[in-house]
Amino acid sequence: MATYDPNNVFARILRGEIPCKKVYESEHALAFNDINPATPTHILVIPKGPYVDMDHFSAEASEAEIAGLFKAVGEVARQAGVVGNGYRILANCGRDAHQEVPHLHIHIFAGRDLGRMIGKAPA
Ligand code: 5GP
Repeated sequence: MATYDPNNVFARILRGEIPCKKVYESEHALAFNDINPATPTHILVIPKGPYVDMDHFSAEASEAEIAGLFKAVGEVARQAGVVGNGYRILANCGRDAHQEVPHLHIHIFAGRDLGRMIGKAPA
């Protein structure tokens, strides 16, 4: 399992060292707009605890943290008004998924037709 880097960009956002456009906060989760949105609504929901990715989180987070993160995802989508037309959640984990920031984050994509679930793998 990867070691958590406390200087990753989302850890710095959690500590208030760099700004974000916050849309939601609870005991266990923070949500903010993605800096480089891929869809009209593109929000990141992160646990407040130091977890590298879904593997780390699912193995070591408490049940309260896990419930808190997933409750936050649903609440953020409702607050953003995207439930009616629909949305997609996605969490990249590790190298093959091209995870860029080593703090677990769940993307919420919405605001347009999102197409098929996943592109074909490169040849
Ligand atoms: P990943 O590829 O790790 O699943 O996604 C990382 C996401 O974090 C990208 O969509 C990227 O635009 C976003 N991101 C990277 N740095 C920052 C930042 O400093 N602030 C915000 N709000 N989003 C960031």
